[in-house]
Amino acid sequence: MDADVLVVGAGPAGSAAAITLARSGKRVVMVDRAHFPRDKCCGDGLTGPALRQLTDLGVRLADLPSWQHVERSVFVSPSGRDLPLRTGDEHKKLLAIVTRAELDAVLVDLARDAGVRVIEGARLDSASVAGEMVTAHFAGLGELRAPLAIGADGAWSPLRRALDDDAPAQQHKWHAARAYVRGVRGPGSSEAFVWFDADVLPGYAWSFPMPDGRANVGVGALREAGGGGGWIVRRFEQLLASDKAVEKLGADAVADSRTMVWPIPTDFKRSRLLDRSHRVLFAGDAVGATDPMTGEGIAEALQTGELAGRASAAGRPRSYLAAARRTLAGRHRRRQFCSDLLRSRSLATAGIRVAGTNDWTAAQFTRWIFD
Ligand SMILES: Cc1cc2nc3c(=O)[nH]c(=O)nc-3n(C[C@H](O)[C@H](O)[C@H](O)COP(=O)(O)OP(=O)(O)OC[C@H]3O[C@@H](n4cnc5c(N)ncnc54)[C@H](O)[C@@H]3O)c2cc1C
Repeated sequence: MDADVLVVGAGPAGSAAAITLARSGKRVVMVDRAHFPRDKCCGDGLTGPALRQLTDLGVRLADLPSWQHVERSVFVSPSGRDLPLRTGDEHKKLLAIVTRAELDAVLVDLARDAGVRVIEGARLDSASVAGEMVTAHFAGLGELRAPLAIGADGAWSPLRRALDDDAPAQQHKWHAARAYVRGVRGPGSSEAFVWFDADVLPGYAWSFPMPDGRANVGVGALREAGGGGGWIVRRFEQLLASDKAVEKLGADAVADSRTMVWPIPTDFKRSRLLDRSHRVLFAGDAVGATDPMTGEGIAEALQTGELAGRASAAGRPRSYLAAARRTLAGRHRRRQFCSDLLRSRSLATAGIRVAGTNDWTAAQFTRWIFD
């Protein structure tokens, strides 16, 4: 036996699980195919819950070089109406940007500091459960064995597919394209913009400000809205060249990285939290925990990772089912309902108009979206 718990994947879900376990005195091995720091296709946006959870874990976010607190955000309705929102001040922060390269690396460091044995650059290629042991094989590393394992290995979850021949081929409903942009001037250098363009509803396009005239810019949409990866990349390029982007980001804003496309798994199901043997728990994108309305999944990854870690530390993996249902399932259903409403251009336009009725409605709307 190599550890009490084996964690596969060292994104936010894996690190949160590993840190929770190690701080409970468990022996933990966490393995990722990547070497950190590594990029992850993401908007890099941290809303209220993610900011609180990261602070509670002990991450000193404001010390990270890419940290950017966003005090003002503007939602733009399908009809072009602006809804300005206060997303923070020095006392309460509801939106901040930190690159995933920095965030995930600092979480891995925290896990190592907590006593987790972290193995980088080793890809899981097979796994099985026999008797009381989970055995996983990693390319270039060999076998690791533990009585419990946590699959925090992202949208495609290779661990789930290795354990279950019947796991349905994943067809994620959402996908998104993003690139880093440099040369940003004007409002886009300090404010976030979220455009609800009619052709991507219930999805949206975004520009999130970063230090030194950079921004994280992207478009997220249901796959059925346009098609495959080629369509979403072209939609992203149209956004960057559009008058509205030039108006907010300035004429010199140009892509500074390749455009990446990645699925957004929102199909959270209780039945996917545990494998049949009840020795493997899944967390984060591996259970489709991402918010179906906003596409944000960092907070959900941290939350499910921590819950999976707690249940494993207590030696009661099945308690994870109730804990995840309590904290996630109802909220997930409500956000899915709102996302379904947002498919309608007129409802999206009306929703933004009502939210902008006065300062109180704008503040409630801000809390609902970001907190
Ligand atoms: C374009 C885009 C924009 C987004 N914007 C936001 C945003 O602004 N805010 C927000 O909160 N969320 C956002 N999300 C969602 C967010 O990125 C995910 O929900 C989050 O990364 C989930 O974390 P995780 O730890 O579950 O998985 P991941 O972060 O995907 O981590 C999984 C880890 O598993 C490892 N792994 C995979 N396969 C193997 C293998 N075979 N062997 C070993 N290791 C393996 C990977 O290397 C990776 O490190 C966005 C997603 C997309 C696609």
